[in-house]
Amino acid sequence: MRCLLFVCLLLGSFPSFALDRFQVEGYTLPNGLQLLLKPGIDRGHVAIRLVVGVGLDDFDCADKELPHLLEHLLFSGIDATGEGGLEERMQALGGEWNAYTSNADTTFVIEAPAKNQRKVLDLLLALLTQTHFDDNAVNAAKQVVEREDGGHYSHLQRWLDRQDLGHTASNQLAVELGLKCPERAEVDHLTREQLEQVRKAWYAPNNMTLIVVGDLDRLLPAYLERSYGELEAVDPTDHPPLPEIKATAAHERTLSNGLVGNGAKLHWLVPEPVLEDQHDETFDLLKDYLDWALYRQMRLAHSLSYGPSAEREVFGGVGFMSLNADLERDDLSQAKQVLEELKAGLLKDGLNAETFNRLKQAAIARQTWAVQGNSALADYYWSALGDFQDGRFANPAKELQGVTLEEANKAMRELMLQPGYLRIETPLMSDDELVWAIAGLLGLIVLVLVAWRLHRKARRTL
Ligand SMILES: [Zn+2]
Repeated sequence: MRCLLFVCLLLGSFPSFALDRFQVEGYTLPNGLQLLLKPGIDRGHVAIRLVVGVGLDDFDCADKELPHLLEHLLFSGIDATGEGGLEERMQALGGEWNAYTSNADTTFVIEAPAKNQRKVLDLLLALLTQTHFDDNAVNAAKQVVEREDGGHYSHLQRWLDRQDLGHTASNQLAVELGLKCPERAEVDHLTREQLEQVRKAWYAPNNMTLIVVGDLDRLLPAYLERSYGELEAVDPTDHPPLPEIKATAAHERTLSNGLVGNGAKLHWLVPEPVLEDQHDETFDLLKDYLDWALYRQMRLAHSLSYGPSAEREVFGGVGFMSLNADLERDDLSQAKQVLEELKAGLLKDGLNAETFNRLKQAAIARQTWAVQGNSALADYYWSALGDFQDGRFANPAKELQGVTLEEANKAMRELMLQPGYLRIETPLMSDDELVWAIAGLLGLIVLVLVAWRLHRKARRTL
């Protein structure tokens, strides 16, 4: 009877441990590898994320593609069967894998049947330790990376980038402020030695986190200690500081996007003031509020824009809030006026308490269904690694609950009191202007023809 009670308790407690998504079995192996293991609710499957702490931000403009190129290179094969042979091994295990290089990290993403989880992890370990780089593999990887970046970087594209025509408004502003590289990074000049160096300096267990979520093998911890525990730690390399604003940019600019059209985009971008507490939650809520305020004014009240939006974006070490609206070109000045009124109204009256509370409760409620299934949970841990402490991730619902109207108002005022940057994107010519230009050109041709005929007639009569 006592046994049965124990089984019942165990069965009863398992779903609650699995359900509390913020509680995770997290520990570090002696070689510094951080492990996060979480039993999930979905059976028969595991989601694996290996996060390596090296990203695009760790390199200068010219060498930015190094970690991305290395990521591709690591899939080029662990033996004579090459890239194809490696992929066939994964297929035989019934899993799928991919990798992503972001500003902050390089992450290997794997979905696999639970029964093969150790074999899949073996294959990942082989990829990390046994991949041999030769020049052919490096060249093949360079081609793939170049294609992913939109093909060969042509002289025209480089020229457009230098003329500010190749960037979107927020990217363009980031370039102006010195937060982003002005041109696309190239791969041609990167060498095998540089790649080996990146691998040696950053692909070390003390710079990695392994996340496994799902139907966990009972032997997984012992297996990981035996296998991944053998990786050798290195002296850590410091991440270079993120760029801060070091140049000034014009308050207002018009950028060309395309040649002909009647559309236009209006953006007001402003750096987020850094808050001591709950920076992200406060600005997330403020973003929701501004998003709704824009929708009410730009779409419902004035029918100027179909999908206006507030966005948050980070460039280098600086976060930006932006208010954006897609418009008709002729409505630009009215839209600017509405935007100014919206800002002035907020500064004068503050946030509406009822709206703020409704949107805050909605954001909290969203947390109950925002992360579903093993894979989404693994992705969530990956995105929130900075919030992991003592076996727990911070609970966003609690953090959101903690943001008061007063704090949000203070942040809003600090944000709105800045002049910010106005960016307008329009095509070079409107449809009407094009019609007039064509008409003008045709008229000119007719004039030339008439003049030519008159001239010939005059010569004949002479
Ligand atoms: Zn890629």
